[in-house]
Amino acid sequence: MKIAVLPGDGIGPEIIAQGVRVLKALEKDGLKFELEYAPVGGAGYEAAGDPLPDATLKLAKAADAILFGSVGDWKYDTLPRAKRPEQAILRLRKELALFANLRPAMVFPELAGASSLRAEFVAGLDVMILRELTGDIYFGEPRGIRILPNGEREGFNTMRYSESEVRRIVRAGFVIAMKRVKRLCSVDKMNVLETSELWREVAIEVAKEFPAVTLTHMYIDNAAMQLLRNPKQFDVIVTGNMFGDILSDEASMLTGSIGMLPSASLDANNKGLFEPIHGSAPDIAGKGVANPLATIMSVSMMLRYTFNLDAAADRIDNAVKKVLAQGYRTADIFESGMQRVGTTGMGDAVIAAL
Ligand code: NAD
Repeated sequence: MKIAVLPGDGIGPEIIAQGVRVLKALEKDGLKFELEYAPVGGAGYEAAGDPLPDATLKLAKAADAILFGSVGDWKYDTLPRAKRPEQAILRLRKELALFANLRPAMVFPELAGASSLRAEFVAGLDVMILRELTGDIYFGEPRGIRILPNGEREGFNTMRYSESEVRRIVRAGFVIAMKRVKRLCSVDKMNVLETSELWREVAIEVAKEFPAVTLTHMYIDNAAMQLLRNPKQFDVIVTGNMFGDILSDEASMLTGSIGMLPSASLDANNKGLFEPIHGSAPDIAGKGVANPLATIMSVSMMLRYTFNLDAAADRIDNAVKKVLAQGYRTADIFESGMQRVGTTGMGDAVIAAL
């Protein structure tokens, strides 16, 4: 199993170091990971004048999976857009055709107090949002701002999805549902949009390949409301790029702790890029206080979704549950009475629990 390790900037190298320790700990069970490191983001710019240096892209293409830390620092904000660290992640998604974005929103019972919703609504929440990442209104042509005959300006974008684009993301949704409790909710706006009409038709067709999975449909406006009203009704949600953009951010905030959320972006062969959803946190970089759990759970997603090692992934997830139950907390999730640890201390606790 070849893994390209791209730590990036800010807290990236600190949290990635803990993710790598967890991988190494699993090698005791006979798993073998070949890790190769490369600079990305600001580190790529410093090393080669490019946030995604050619050698880094080549390594990412050759690997089976990519473990990505985080990129960005305020000091690069004045660079031309193409040279800014954040371009690296956008280019990687495009170059590697990573069309499926998986964002779990989980609330460990011990952390339910951090949510903006009352604890009883979110304790034990475990929703997986699958967002299509390379199509929809964000990429559809024609687009632009034009002058109308009456002289006023008009902005316009085009929402479009081809049948094959819908089929592959919905199919990915069913595959994920099969790994969980076999429930899939497809979110669309079929009552108003032809794009959604096709989306729903294709979803119903694909469902025939997965008779074990229960497929339901929901309009986006209702889904946004239901996520706040009763989020635990959902298991896997699959939706388009724009609806998924909004729903996945909404869902992540139900958890209230940005240092706890992993993510994955997969291609058609389940090769993926795995990263915490948070950024490079320049305000705490180098202090040894960043929470590494989102990265450690990104490692778990890598084992589950790219390498099909569900048992090893379960071990990591259970180890994370255990350290939280034992009371270990980094500063971002600290409450009085708990055991405060730094980045390495949290890594130690997870490895001990493994
Ligand atoms: P951020 O996610 O880096 O930080 C937001 C807040 O959350 C900060 O107070 C930070 O200290 C805290 N935080 C984030 N991760 C944490 C962790 N693991 N443990 C403890 N606390 C944590 O977002 P930002 O401050 O808006 O952006 C900082 C930089 O990160 C910017 O340059 C931005 O462009 C970049 N960014 C990168 C990615 C990515 O690499 N995919 C994603 C988002 C933002």
